[in-house]
Amino acid sequence: MVKRVAIIGAGVSGLTSIKCCLDEGLEPTCFERSDDIGGLWRFTEHVEDGRPSLYKSVVSNTCKEMSAFTDFPYPEDFPVFLSNSQVLEYLRMYAKHFGLLKHIQFKTTVISVRKCPDFSATGQWAIVTESNGKQESSVFDAVMVCIGYLSDPSLPLESFPGIETFQGEYFHSRYYKHPDVFEGKKVLVIGMGNSGVDIAIEASRVAKKVMISTGRGAWVISRVFDNGYPWDMVFLTRFMNVIRNSLPGPITTWLVAHRTSQWFDHANYGLIPKDRDVIREPVLNDDLPGCIITGKITIKPSLKEIKENSVMFQNSPTEEPVDVIVFATGYKFSFPFLEESVVKVEKKQASLYKYIFPPHLEKPTLAVVGLIKPFGAVMPVVEIQARWVTRIFNGRWSRKVSMMFGLSYDEILKTDCLVYIDELASLIGTKPSVLALLFKDPILAMKVFFGPCTAYQYRLTGPGKWDGARNAILTQWERTVKPTRTRVVEEPPNFCFNLLKLIGLFALFAAIFLGFK
Ligand code: NAP
Repeated sequence: MVKRVAIIGAGVSGLTSIKCCLDEGLEPTCFERSDDIGGLWRFTEHVEDGRPSLYKSVVSNTCKEMSAFTDFPYPEDFPVFLSNSQVLEYLRMYAKHFGLLKHIQFKTTVISVRKCPDFSATGQWAIVTESNGKQESSVFDAVMVCIGYLSDPSLPLESFPGIETFQGEYFHSRYYKHPDVFEGKKVLVIGMGNSGVDIAIEASRVAKKVMISTGRGAWVISRVFDNGYPWDMVFLTRFMNVIRNSLPGPITTWLVAHRTSQWFDHANYGLIPKDRDVIREPVLNDDLPGCIITGKITIKPSLKEIKENSVMFQNSPTEEPVDVIVFATGYKFSFPFLEESVVKVEKKQASLYKYIFPPHLEKPTLAVVGLIKPFGAVMPVVEIQARWVTRIFNGRWSRKVSMMFGLSYDEILKTDCLVYIDELASLIGTKPSVLALLFKDPILAMKVFFGPCTAYQYRLTGPGKWDGARNAILTQWERTVKPTRTRVVEEPPNFCFNLLKLIGLFALFAAIFLGFK
């Protein structure tokens, strides 16, 4: 029987894993290498080996209502999209509220995780940790690996012929902190993920020239979507999901392309993705089209060659002078403390059952939480993973387990994110039934189906039901507009609307009168 659970890492996945262990009556011990919680979201001026590294200006790509844990909404005065320090503040509030800190051993590095000799009977793991230069070994009944995937930069210099001759400066995006390094320089950013575009935008304010080189292009979405609402609250609803998943693939692809191009034509801006049928992570950026149309940023194809002080692009005979190259080429990941026979990582992917469990272990007592790139916020996904994992640890097996092997991380989650969360939620017994709600609470049912699929929905029913969930759903739009409606003006009477109402009323009276006759 599982009692003692080791959790490796105290970032978003680690914190929610501690909470889920406590909810299930398990005894979590979390090992955190640094001296604070927050993982990725904690900004430091210096890049620390093996830790994620942020630039100062990072703002969340998903809005606060969609990025909340299931039973802990953000304060209503927090902005809709959050700076890294505000996400960190939220995580601190979450940790304090649920009493998580006392379960964390800071400045403790996990050196190795090995199956105990009697693993096939007990499922136990021997864990060696190091703290203050002293190593210690202890046995745990289960392990949750929550180390994220943004610590180990991918810098494929071998793919860039001539880089060894380059006289300028080059570095991976992980080492970027502030834009002053670009002052008056000619800058080339390689890679069009969210880091590359953010850094190019910051560079464009001080640099002499900025280019982004991309082989595949990308869809670019604004955080500010229809009528100024957050993109994910409009896009990620159950209703939209039904439409997306019931249409044939090519029509869905066309719809996504059409919808995305309503903001600006991606072909005219040199951004249109090459392989449009492959679902890839979009770039969330409000400024890129503005920078391209004003000539502050130029989009270029893949690199052909790097020379001493310039570069050459594919299909172009011209040399472009460059002083600084930023390799925004993403990350790779590994589990240095695990044996390859437990989780094998190949080509930036790991094969895991439901993106969580190594499929071949005799006992399901090791889980990887958060090795996933969802199209949407990461918090609800990792929390549902942790809720399911801790129930499995607790021996609450469900017969309804269907097979879903995932190649975690590199490609965006293959299944629709909402389908994935729903699948885990139905295994736990917390998936809301819109039909049942329709009879019991029709207003809530409408909000759940047509409204944004916020994580509170997974606390309406079943184990871990939270009494505040209904209210959190009914008030989610209030919390969304509160921080922007800072100047409230009385609406002038809408003449056209009033006229229409008057005509409608008149037509109604006329119909009743004629009916009586
Ligand atoms: P990423 O999303 O993995 O993007 C890496 C980029 O590098 C891709 O565009 C890829 O281009 C390119 N690339 C990789 N190898 C290359 C090569 N050999 N030659 C040329 N190009 C190459 O990495 P990231 O932008 O650092 O983002 C990492 C994660 O952090 C993402 O999930 C992202 O959303 C997240 N993030 C979030 C925020 C935010 O919340 N505000 C900010 C930054 C990052 P191809 O596709 O053409 O191969």
